[in-house]
Amino acid sequence: MHGGAAAPAPGEWGRGRGGRARRPEAGDRMTTIFQDSEITAGWEDILGKDKYRLMFADIAASYPEKRSIYVPYEDIDAYNTDLAMYFLDHPDKCLSKGREVVKASLPPAWDHRDTVNLRITDLPRDAKVEVRKIRAKHLGRLVAVEGLVRKATTVRPKMTHALFRCARCGAEIWEAQKGSIMREPLMCSNPDGSCNKQATHFDLDSKASVFVDTQKIEIQESPEGLRGGAQPERIAGFVEDDIAGVITAGNRVTINGIIRSAEKHDRDKSTVFEIFMDVMSVEFEEHEYDEIQITEEDEQKILDMSRDPMLFDNIVASISPTIHGMTEVKSAIALQLFGGCNKEMDDGTAIRGDMHVLLVGDPGVAKSQVLRYMSALAPRGIYASGKSASAAGLTAAAVKDEFGDGRWTLEAGALVLADKGLACIDELDKMTAQDRSSLHEAMESQRISVAKAGITATLQCRCSMLAAANPKFGRFETDGMSITKQIDLPPALMSRFDMIFVLTDKPNPKADRELTAHILNVHRRGQARQMGEDAPLVVGVDVKRIKEETENVRPVYEQDIMRKYVAYSKRIVPIMTDQAMGMIEDKYLGIRAMGAGENDSVPITARQLEAYVRLSEASARMRLSRTIEEEDAARAVDLVEFYLSKLLAPDGGQWDIDNLSSKYTKKDRNELTAILSIVDGYEGGASEEDIVSQAVSEGLSEEKVRRRLKMMKEDGTLFCPPNGNYKRA
Ligand code: ADP
Ligand code: MG
Repeated sequence: MHGGAAAPAPGEWGRGRGGRARRPEAGDRMTTIFQDSEITAGWEDILGKDKYRLMFADIAASYPEKRSIYVPYEDIDAYNTDLAMYFLDHPDKCLSKGREVVKASLPPAWDHRDTVNLRITDLPRDAKVEVRKIRAKHLGRLVAVEGLVRKATTVRPKMTHALFRCARCGAEIWEAQKGSIMREPLMCSNPDGSCNKQATHFDLDSKASVFVDTQKIEIQESPEGLRGGAQPERIAGFVEDDIAGVITAGNRVTINGIIRSAEKHDRDKSTVFEIFMDVMSVEFEEHEYDEIQITEEDEQKILDMSRDPMLFDNIVASISPTIHGMTEVKSAIALQLFGGCNKEMDDGTAIRGDMHVLLVGDPGVAKSQVLRYMSALAPRGIYASGKSASAAGLTAAAVKDEFGDGRWTLEAGALVLADKGLACIDELDKMTAQDRSSLHEAMESQRISVAKAGITATLQCRCSMLAAANPKFGRFETDGMSITKQIDLPPALMSRFDMIFVLTDKPNPKADRELTAHILNVHRRGQARQMGEDAPLVVGVDVKRIKEETENVRPVYEQDIMRKYVAYSKRIVPIMTDQAMGMIEDKYLGIRAMGAGENDSVPITARQLEAYVRLSEASARMRLSRTIEEEDAARAVDLVEFYLSKLLAPDGGQWDIDNLSSKYTKKDRNELTAILSIVDGYEGGASEEDIVSQAVSEGLSEEKVRRRLKMMKEDGTLFCPPNGNYKRA
């Protein structure tokens, strides 16, 4: 919004600007000291340029809509490099001189000369500081901080100059207000008044006092700088006057301002201070994925990769390579990473291109592991748990807490922070009731509305979601009970997922042997890596051989180039060929027909048809192809078929459409009726042991009966007090 060109790229200093010398690095900085008069002269020169003359005229004409002069740092640098550097170290002094020059440049008769702001934009790269690196040495210095806005309060006026009247003589006394507590005059300053300069009572005239709009924000360092799962650090910022309110939670911004400290709000005086930023200007991200720089060399590499016939396999092999198997899941996640295309239709409606994938599975099948990996790999990946402690949860919330000092604060949750990225949500089934109700909107329309206590905001969450959940009863039971019934998520929410993968962990000698070998090898490789390059001297173990044999757990493409590849591919919007369209049509109608005739079971809905489209778009995008070919459609069709078959026939064999509806399957119903009739056979209820022994004699398995009982108790079919007897509810 503010500021023009982006900050110069590294190496750009000194180039193309009259051949000036290379800009000195922070280390070899010389401290030239500038006198006040020199600073003033500098400002007069800079602000005397035509560009600023026009800006002054504009402000005088359109005040109060416009009331800030924006000076790109470059202009100061062009005037004098040393002064520009001095500015970064002594911003307060330089700004106050600058404001004097601003005031002098405005028409003398104009009333508002004191309220025009001077704001510096586009700070150089060496003024950029990571939130986690802000230290005492930055106090009082001008820096730029990049990050995500996690919290933003409502905009409220703050008094800057209070007008008091002496209760005895009525004299007017102005008192400048700095802190958060109102400062009253100590005595009346009227020499002629009846109060005779004594302490009296003062009345505040709040109408005539001067106010400025303020907003408090909290910036969290962007996930790109956080490889390795570190906790993101945060810094608070105060935004004043015309730029208060331009920022909202979820924005990606660079804030330029002066680092200051404030005593902690403790009862006892403390020597430990909080650090915050006095924000001077805000720059919004101008292009998507600004944070990912793709050089010409990278581009060449990306184009080479895209021509590799093994591209798809290579990409899948680069996703969580330490995890064995799960090829289909990894393929789906790979496509999710590239994503379908967002579309806007002629009537203004938008269709989302982002895909949502749900992994439900037994504990210990590496769901969390995959999620963590993807949050690190994906551009703008965020990892969060459904049972997160923050008030904003997964979506967003309006909260009133310490941060806002009595004001309401809008706080962004994981999905908002992952805007235009990938939100990896673990333990989705454990989410709060509030998230449960707001997640539908977030997933489908990719917006979150908050309307509470004066805050009405719509936050964008244009992200893909990769979620994981555990089965409701601990483990999946694949024979009989419908899968959907074992997932503790509302059906409406589940239907928002483009794909749902069921991961079961059943003993299988062949698969177990492979997995065991794989996991052990992963650990051995890890051990070998610790030893460094030349350590073949370990007794009885050939480190070199181990390294060679475990090459397959190394990603084919390194994370860095993968991220660039994904960011690059987003430029491509492919279009479907007739052949691809025909293929999807046939497949969809075929599966749809399977549900015909069965009572209220809808095997797949139009939502899955859209999933086909998104998947095939992603596949074409991955190849950097402008057309969606049959191979892309086939990839989509195969994946949908795979996940449906796991859902509909977890044991293999015939697809049972009942598995998708929230009703019981036929086999289910038979068993439930058998158990119910046992219960009915006992007057006054049956004990669990009685039911189990009778059911077992009728051919059911003990474990299953116990689980069925638990389930029927939960869904209200049966009633049972603790340690009591089961009865019909
Ligand atoms: P979940 O979240 O599904 O309960 P985790 O992600 O916590 O499971 O995984 C448990 C552990 O088992 C992890 O350390 C993971 O590395 C290991 N593991 C499970 N399945 C596999 C697999 N297929 N390949 C490699 N490691 C696995
Ligand atoms: Mg887990």
